[in-house]
Amino acid sequence: MPGSSGSVAALVLAAGRGERLGHALPKAFVPIAGRTLLEHSVRALVRSKAIDWIVPVLAAADLARWQDLSLGSIEGLAPPVAGGAERQHSMRAGLAELPEEIEFVAVHDAARCLVAAEDIRAVVSAARETGAAILGERARDTIKRVVDGKIVETPERAACWAAQTPQVIRRDWLSEAVAAADRKGLLGTDDAQLIEWLGHPVEMVEARFPNPKITRPEDLVLAEAMLAKAAGSTAAANTERDVR
Ligand code: C5P
Repeated sequence: MPGSSGSVAALVLAAGRGERLGHALPKAFVPIAGRTLLEHSVRALVRSKAIDWIVPVLAAADLARWQDLSLGSIEGLAPPVAGGAERQHSMRAGLAELPEEIEFVAVHDAARCLVAAEDIRAVVSAARETGAAILGERARDTIKRVVDGKIVETPERAACWAAQTPQVIRRDWLSEAVAAADRKGLLGTDDAQLIEWLGHPVEMVEARFPNPKITRPEDLVLAEAMLAKAAGSTAAANTERDVR
């Protein structure tokens, strides 16, 4: 398996309500810079050229909204499937829909709509070598573990990272991990946690570009500004090319 060139499917998890965002629309369908978070995420995965198949996972109540998106005809983009009550259930629903030949699964939160194509390529390539890899960033703040309002532990900051997505995992490991977690009634807040429970190593790949999870209203403002800046630098680069 190391160095495997097997095909990769992305599960784009978009079945959460996004209550902390306080928006009238479900989070994945909130527009920024003219496109929904879901469209930005799908386009980033396509741009990376590292993904062969994409399965969007939407809340059952939102399936009809899929028609309203302007994703055009993207090769390998499957129709959406209905997610579940928890993130892990939505991931499991997407996993169940994958074609047989898929060897790696890249689980991505639609809410991380700014993810850079280069970072997607880096994490897919790490997973091909090791079996499981996730994107993340070093903790900037000192992290405290708190129980009942009291600090019980301060882990060494240099060893603390914030987990992001995509999280790319061998399909056989992920299927086994989901089955084991279901059997034991365990719910992970990310996919790597299920693999850690199985005892397999998971590699951390440092994101080179900002990859925030859109969670609160102020994150939308920040993301909009970041996309405008990125569009500005692309336009500037194109103008420079035209002038030459
Ligand atoms: O709630 P949280 O911020 O952890 O959600 C992360 C991602 O998981 C979001 O993109 C959300 O749409 C997705 N999710 C899901 N199904 C759920 C809960 C969350 O697909 N039941």
